[in-house]
Amino acid sequence: MLLDYTLYLWHWLTHRVPLLWRLHRVHHADLDLSGSTALRFHFVEMMLSAPWRAAQVVTIGASARALSVWQTLTLVAILFHHSNIRLPMALERRLCRVLVTPRMHGIHHSVVKEETHCNWGTILSIPDYLHGTIRLNVPQDAIEIGVPAFRDPGELRFGALLRMPFEEQRPTWQLEGRGPQPARLRDETRRSELRP
Ligand SMILES: [Zn+2]
Repeated sequence: MLLDYTLYLWHWLTHRVPLLWRLHRVHHADLDLSGSTALRFHFVEMMLSAPWRAAQVVTIGASARALSVWQTLTLVAILFHHSNIRLPMALERRLCRVLVTPRMHGIHHSVVKEETHCNWGTILSIPDYLHGTIRLNVPQDAIEIGVPAFRDPGELRFGALLRMPFEEQRPTWQLEGRGPQPARLRDETRRSELRP
């Protein structure tokens, strides 16, 4: 649980520290959520996460076995919550009290800034409940996936994604980097009644 909690903190940092966000933004630029999104991380972000991982293990004192089990569970969880599986709502409402579900993580991949800045959990949703960063009241159908700065699939090819963190940074939350900032209409969230 502590390994999962400290990964929540790392995920928060990747959004809040500008240098890390340059790299993590590559993952968020995907225009459609599916299992493959789970593997679309910039390799420099992966490299920078290694010292964090080492610090997690040393600070928590995790055994090799605990680390191995957690890493396997993390991989399964990441594949699961990025997938485009639509679970029956009654099951999903129960599940997201403990686990990060695809609907919950889909909100984290929204083009709306306030929606991206919530649901940071990986395996367990408990850290999000603890920190008050859980958000469930956005209907799945109302979510546009990606970051506003990059809406053209032509700009999201393999080479472009590799170069993205090292180029001049467009404002993330404005459409195409210069247009208006996407926002959620209030009644869209109220209509949903999706709170567990
Ligand atoms: Zn993220």
